[in-house]
Amino acid sequence: MKSHARVVVIGGGVVGCSVLYHLTKFGWSDVVLVERSELTSGSTWHAAGGMHTINGDPNVARLQKYTVELYKEIEAYSGQDIGLHMTSGLMLAATPERFDWLKSVLAKGKYNGMEAHLLSAREAHEMMPLLDPDQFVGAVFDPNEGHLDPYGTTHAYAKSARKNGAEIYLHTKVEELVQLPDGTWRVITDKGEIRAEHVVNAAGLWAREVGRMVGLELPVLAMEHMYLLTEDMPEVIEFNRTTGRELMHCVDFDGEIYIRQERNGMLMGTYEKACRPWSPIETPWDFGHELLPEDLERITGELEVGFRHFPAFNNAGIRKIINGPFTFSPDGNPLVGPVRGMMNFWSACAVMAGFSQGGGVGLALANWIINGDPGFDVFAMDVCRYGDHATLAYTNAKVRENYSRRFSIRYPNEELPAARPLLTTPIYDRLKAAGAVFGTSYGLETPLWFAPPGLEDRFSWRRSADFETVGREARAVRTGVGLMETSGFAKYAIRGEGARDWLDQILAGKIPPTGRMTLTPMLNEAGKLIGDFTLANLDDEEFLLIGSGIAEDYHMRWFENHLPDDGSAEVDALNLGLVGLSVAGPKARDVLQKLTHLDLSGTAFPFMAIRELDLGMAPVILGRVSYAGDLGYEIWMKPEYQRYLFDLLMEAGAEFGITLFGLRALNALRLEKSFGSWAREYRPLYGPKEAGLGRFIAYDKPATFIGKTAALKEKAEGGALRLVTFTVKAKDADVIGDEPIYFDGKVRGWVTSGGYAHASGISVAMGYVPREIAGEIHGWQIELLGEILPATLQPRPLFDQNGARMRS
Ligand SMILES: Cc1cc2nc3c(=O)[nH]c(=O)nc-3n(C[C@H](O)[C@H](O)[C@H](O)COP(=O)(O)OP(=O)(O)OC[C@H]3O[C@@H](n4cnc5c(N)ncnc54)[C@H](O)[C@@H]3O)c2cc1C
Repeated sequence: MKSHARVVVIGGGVVGCSVLYHLTKFGWSDVVLVERSELTSGSTWHAAGGMHTINGDPNVARLQKYTVELYKEIEAYSGQDIGLHMTSGLMLAATPERFDWLKSVLAKGKYNGMEAHLLSAREAHEMMPLLDPDQFVGAVFDPNEGHLDPYGTTHAYAKSARKNGAEIYLHTKVEELVQLPDGTWRVITDKGEIRAEHVVNAAGLWAREVGRMVGLELPVLAMEHMYLLTEDMPEVIEFNRTTGRELMHCVDFDGEIYIRQERNGMLMGTYEKACRPWSPIETPWDFGHELLPEDLERITGELEVGFRHFPAFNNAGIRKIINGPFTFSPDGNPLVGPVRGMMNFWSACAVMAGFSQGGGVGLALANWIINGDPGFDVFAMDVCRYGDHATLAYTNAKVRENYSRRFSIRYPNEELPAARPLLTTPIYDRLKAAGAVFGTSYGLETPLWFAPPGLEDRFSWRRSADFETVGREARAVRTGVGLMETSGFAKYAIRGEGARDWLDQILAGKIPPTGRMTLTPMLNEAGKLIGDFTLANLDDEEFLLIGSGIAEDYHMRWFENHLPDDGSAEVDALNLGLVGLSVAGPKARDVLQKLTHLDLSGTAFPFMAIRELDLGMAPVILGRVSYAGDLGYEIWMKPEYQRYLFDLLMEAGAEFGITLFGLRALNALRLEKSFGSWAREYRPLYGPKEAGLGRFIAYDKPATFIGKTAALKEKAEGGALRLVTFTVKAKDADVIGDEPIYFDGKVRGWVTSGGYAHASGISVAMGYVPREIAGEIHGWQIELLGEILPATLQPRPLFDQNGARMRS
């Protein structure tokens, strides 16, 4: 065993082996993998080996596509047979709602180059005669699906890595991990010790336990999963004989099952509603190549539907039932990347679809370890997308929900109920009493809209029960004054004598003078957007930075990794230690002026001013800015003052008809201002010029801020894309995100977000298109629920084009 290695990967499942292979592929050969038993001794060995490119997040879908395309490469390079069967596949819809959903999946895949297409139930039957066409409405055909041999595939990664110089130690269990003051790791195994620069936790079923070795509680839980294998089926043999082909994969969403051919019979698996976590607290170390007891009772309901949808199964004998555990994160996507607060400790776990995602995870992680950046937009699977709220019990509730809904439709306006309410602010009950319908963001209950008595959300792809009310909320802001809670934003305090200089390095924008705010993007070395913030200078050695709530850990990881060594600046995530309210609309100033003797006029307290003052008896930080794009204020306070302030503002606003509004109205308001938002318009995929944020970059400031060289290059060359806004001739539904944008009949771009801009009375979409056609007003179309709708590019915001209202 080596005494030193650059990287030690813990775990020889498909994921660990893929990480190892990719490290060596990119030139790092001084790397080892440590496996407590044989390769594939976790969930990998009993996987059904199915793979596909579909994922709700297009960025993860791209990595899945990469994984599927990689198989031929590793098979050829290693010489190891991986039992690849590219059978193609069908996704089946048994209801019109499901067919709508499949159409949206298909549309999303278009700009990713997905080659799938729609089929009628009859056409699907012709391709896959085992299905009963009368049970289905339609299907999507995807040529890029198939299955492989999990054992062969894992060994192909391992052999390829070994060929490139990696070493693999079997029957070697990592028992302890200790980080030394110089940042290197002591990887203590039952066979000796290795000193490593980097440690990768790819321990699959034991990822939680390996996390605990370094004091981490990773949000990951294993679930039992069952599939059955039939005896030989004459229908299968006959199909193979007459066509010379294998039967294709099918995912029957409404039956909650998947099937594929296995030898001369079939395999049928299900994500059962009556799901069961496995080893919810601790995974036993002596678990290995055994299966869990079969429990057909639990999947009877799903099997009955399956047998009805695929009648040939009724006559088939069951040869074997497999019940095995595999791991999930709360939202079902992997947990990948560097763990915040630790140096060189990497996560590659909770990969629930190792054969669809393992290659992409290995690629992204190897890039990240070697280059400091995953090279793709991997936020959807970043280990930092969960905060402290993702405890063991939270994870248990969310994973069970996610597993049991694996094949369920999630409507765009649907909020899932598990593990709620968890985080609430002091005015939660007040808002609830006022009719608030809540969503969650980073665990926090956040009002979406305020439902009048008797009305509730009706989940749909189309405009729904909230449409009129959200419209009323949005219009109330534009014509009078509205109040919303803003506690869900991330708030950071940056303090110290070096705070200003540090911010100047880390942020690409100008540092505002005392008492002023500015909008500023944050870039990575490649000049791509990794954040957009409002920066407030409270007093040269104390700054308040406001950003996206869901990215708090993601941003803190970046900040902490870049803090000055001399301690001259420090950063704190204030979390719910600072909560917020926002008052917006032409009457906003009148409301606030009633609560302070200080002059809030446009000259005394102009747009982008910020100061500490009292409103009534409550000390607050008041900023003259609003994401609604109107005259407006953000008010930040300690939580103990929030109820008082809420009541005070509602009382002071009564004479102006103050109206509570939620996130849905805010979305409508920011769309008519063409304001982008983090994780939608602003992501590490785009440069600032592309995103229309060039005016917020201080290209000529003396500081060599991170990403400056790349940003200057982008400025000189112009960037390939442009973020643009469209109005859409929508009917009864509005775009949400990821729909394809056509120009002159060809897919040329994609929607990042959209909705109905109620105050302007028109449907709006924002999205990216190639720069060379971004000046074209006409010739655009957007696909929505299978319909191609005319769209018109809006070069200027629909509301308050010159910002006069905002600055008034
Ligand atoms: C019944 C079933 C069907 C499935 N079907 C499919 C499918 O069709 N398609 C698909 O893509 N996925 C499928 N999966 C999921 C798939 O198996 C997983 O996504 C995949 O196996 C995850 O691999 P992994 O490498 O992350 O974890 P694991 O396979 O669990 O590997 C972790 C490895 O780490 C080792 N290890 C742990 N702790 C230590 C330690 N301290 N020291 C040394 N070594 C350690 C373990 O021994 C183990 O070998 C299925 C799973 C099940 C259970």
